[in-house]
Amino acid sequence: MASVDIAGVIKRFGVHEVLHGIDIGIGDGEFVVLVGPSGCGKSTLLRMVAGLEEITSGDISIGGRIVNRVPPKQRDIAMVFQNYALYPHMTVYDNMSFSLKLAGVDKAKIDERVNGAADILGLQDYLARYPRQLSGGQRQRVAMGRAIVRDPQVFLFDEPLSNLDAKLRVQMRTEIKALHQRLKTTSVYVTHDQVEAMTMADRIVVMQDGYVEQIGAPLELYDRPANMFVAGFIGSPA
Ligand code: ADP
Ligand code: MG
Repeated sequence: MASVDIAGVIKRFGVHEVLHGIDIGIGDGEFVVLVGPSGCGKSTLLRMVAGLEEITSGDISIGGRIVNRVPPKQRDIAMVFQNYALYPHMTVYDNMSFSLKLAGVDKAKIDERVNGAADILGLQDYLARYPRQLSGGQRQRVAMGRAIVRDPQVFLFDEPLSNLDAKLRVQMRTEIKALHQRLKTTSVYVTHDQVEAMTMADRIVVMQDGYVEQIGAPLELYDRPANMFVAGFIGSPA
């Protein structure tokens, strides 16, 4: 079980409240996209699910267990960021195996996991290369490989494609969806791009100014937007 439950979550930075009571239930194996304009609180919410940001009040559960005080490393999650955060002085293999090494996984198992992920991502021929010797798309795959090798219960993506050019962005979103169809890992994917949300999501969460405006399947939001904001946001071109 790896549902993610966000219940009554409020976040304040000092006196500034940026999330005003968020309720989102994400089913086991679901691909949910959080979408909304820059500054609406998407990253903050995702970082709270990851344990990188404290919750002011409310609860977040993963797989039915409240994780409010559980440190990131003890939550069964892996996060993929927009800036890849690859180690420049390490090969692709070492980038992908690093967290497993830290966790004390034995060498044979690491080899199996890294090769498995490289297979899935088409990185078999690049394992000995360094990040600077890779294209943007390949770097993005390595960043995903680092998440996959850990075989987490939940993937968290924060605008993973926003540094890529338009053509590659379209290709990578197809790849990420195919990956999800194969692994069925519960995924929470943040973007400000409504086209990305519409094409990738099982369900979309539309956010504005620290509130959830609507949650629903892409077509549902398109056909029956809850308000003018959702209609305008979903309906307008990227
Ligand atoms: P998004 O990811 O949707 O663009 P963020 O979650 O990054 O939005 O930010 C939501 C709001 O919280 C913004 O007003 C931002 O300025 C504020 N914020 C984010 N992180 C911090 C922080 N560490 N300290 C103070 N304010 C922050
Ligand atoms: Mg953000």
